[in-house]
Amino acid sequence: MVPKIIVHGGAWNIPKRFHQAHLEGCSKAVQAVYADLKNGLSALEAVERAVNELEADPTFNAGRGSYLNVKGEIELDAIICDGKTLNFGAVAAVQNILHPVSVAKILLNHPEHCFLAGNGLKDFLKEHHIAEVAVEDLLTQRELVYYRKIKGDPNFTTRKPFEPAPGDTVGAVALDDNGNLAAATSTGGTPRKLPGRVGDSPVIGAGAYADNQLGAISASGFGEAIMKILLAKLVCDNFKDLPAMAAARFGITQLRKRVNGLGGVIGINRTGTYAYCHNTPFMAYAYYDTKKGIVSHIKMDGMPSDRV
Ligand code: ASP
Repeated sequence: MVPKIIVHGGAWNIPKRFHQAHLEGCSKAVQAVYADLKNGLSALEAVERAVNELEADPTFNAGRGSYLNVKGEIELDAIICDGKTLNFGAVAAVQNILHPVSVAKILLNHPEHCFLAGNGLKDFLKEHHIAEVAVEDLLTQRELVYYRKIKGDPNFTTRKPFEPAPGDTVGAVALDDNGNLAAATSTGGTPRKLPGRVGDSPVIGAGAYADNQLGAISASGFGEAIMKILLAKLVCDNFKDLPAMAAARFGITQLRKRVNGLGGVIGINRTGTYAYCHNTPFMAYAYYDTKKGIVSHIKMDGMPSDRV
């Protein structure tokens, strides 16, 4: 198998002034892992490392740079999925952590549990000596300004698709030389969300899914809609009968038709073909092409958003 990796920096209405940073951030995440992936790094390690790059980059709404909830706090969700075993690890509404996807990855090895939240998750962090970071290490001036702008706005809703918001969710999907697929997604959620709100990102089959027999997907967009149709699993199931890009397009069409949702997906099918599609004005993504090297986009060619 020729190893493959694709990452995204979210499907949303990304303001023009942030396009370059999104393209560069996604390309850097591919760059950081592709050489090692070619030299035998596993798909699971590759998606964790690529997402770690994106979480550390303040451009994106994941780890550093995340949106604030209505109380001005940062609560993060993340998932990592193993296509070989169908196992996953996920965490929800975790605070003071720069790399929630790595906490999710530790959970992959838990003998019983896959998904942790609340006080139990806090204990788990302590048990595993995962260092907490200060809020200041996650908070950016950009998000503070944005929070203050939307805080008292009676017309603001997280569904307001054309209100350009600064950053967005991140994710990665990889195929390694053993034919194993993995997917990961990490997010600060939606701006001004309620404390304790959990979106699609850490929900298996919604924000990500991986199955060596089908393919793997990471999603982004309005979580409340994505969860209702289990978007990542829906696209993976359609990898069985449709070409990779057609399966991604089918998922996004269903998102719009069935639950009036906005979002995007990236993925790889079991034979190593990339898939991506979005119906938001923009989606930042980058992948490694064996002929062209690293390719990055902020909008999918030939797929105009159905809302612009
Ligand atoms: N899907 C994420 C959530 O709803 C947000 C996003 O992808 O922009 O939490």
